[in-house]
Amino acid sequence: MTLPELVERQRAFRRGEHWMTAALLTTLFGGMLVAVFVKGGRLYLLGLFLVLGLEFVAFGLLWMRSLSGYGLRCPSCRRPLTGLPGQITVATGRCGNCGTTIWSDEAR
Ligand SMILES: [Zn+2]
Repeated sequence: MTLPELVERQRAFRRGEHWMTAALLTTLFGGMLVAVFVKGGRLYLLGLFLVLGLEFVAFGLLWMRSLSGYGLRCPSCRRPLTGLPGQITVATGRCGNCGTTIWSDEAR
């Protein structure tokens, strides 16, 4: 993998991540807003948190599949090359978790 490929994969992955975060926050705050107007609020809140829990699990599975789909897992330790370890990988060319070489500058 080259550096531009890694950066583009991380960028594409983050777009999907933003979509999932927006859906979770919309459910949370939209659901809380609706709760103000619902009678029998305790049962409603139970249902809301059940839906949130299911969304959280579904998006978690989707997130993990998406990591593999974009090839953003370290080939050695299988940990994600996103977030802080991903930034370390961009800066150094090595996995931020185990140090395995991820990308190399072919011009050198
Ligand atoms: Zn690694």
